[in-house]
Amino acid sequence: MTYRELMKRGACLLKNAGVVESDTDAALLLEYVCKTDRNYLLAHGEETVGPEAEKRFIGFIDKRCRRIPLQQLTGEQCFMGLDFKVNEHVLIPRQDTEILVEEILRELHDGMRILDMCTGSGCILISLLRYSNYCVGVGVDISEEALKTAAGNAERLLSVPVTFIKSNLFENVTGEYEVIVSNPPYIKRADIQTLMPEVREHEPLLALDGGEDGLSFYRRLVEDGRRFLCDGGRMYFEIGMEQADEVTALMEAAGFVEINVVKDYAGLDRVVYGRKPTEVR
Ligand code: GLN
Repeated sequence: MTYRELMKRGACLLKNAGVVESDTDAALLLEYVCKTDRNYLLAHGEETVGPEAEKRFIGFIDKRCRRIPLQQLTGEQCFMGLDFKVNEHVLIPRQDTEILVEEILRELHDGMRILDMCTGSGCILISLLRYSNYCVGVGVDISEEALKTAAGNAERLLSVPVTFIKSNLFENVTGEYEVIVSNPPYIKRADIQTLMPEVREHEPLLALDGGEDGLSFYRRLVEDGRRFLCDGGRMYFEIGMEQADEVTALMEAAGFVEINVVKDYAGLDRVVYGRKPTEVR
């Protein structure tokens, strides 16, 4: 079959399986298998694809029809302009999370110490280190497999040192930080079944389940995290779109000041951050 025919066939199979971005996903998978790009596919649509590549492509389409996320098939996701390796052990970096990184970068100074709780693929911490100078980065996760993934990403994307710690939240954390950031699991337990099959069945539940009300990680991070924050240091969270008021209230109750909510490009509340004043202990 030709590029054009294969793309059409793949897109049709995906569409019937209920995949939303069927055309895009078929094109991306064909590019991936044939190690080429969109321009080439479009400009050389009549070129015949070899039987090996065709077989591989249809194999990937089959998996995608079973709603395995595209990024778990290609093994990568671009975030903040950097190519991160991903797998079933980490949440696939979301574009929404770039808002969180950009917000931190506004206030990040050379040499600051950054603690990333629930680091997953490491995308937040690694981007912050990549776009700053002389910062000290520590990433924490409870999942050994996630930490391996993060360390691999750091090795490929960074030329500065970074530390990854296996820890149940702050259990094994030491030191003081100017910035604590987290994109913790924040989906209400009862809502998990309403997520897309890609997320619900193939992304790690450990990275999604925020407990009964979705807030259990914020509670613990705000409560226990204060001790690890320098006076004047900031704590930044990614949040679900309906959690701004609740997370703000948790931070207020813990004595944080200058609390702000930032929206994502869809106009939804996405980030909450606040500062620890000198007198809060
Ligand atoms: N934003 C993610 C989603 O779309 C959830 C991320 C999280 O729980 N931290 O499912």
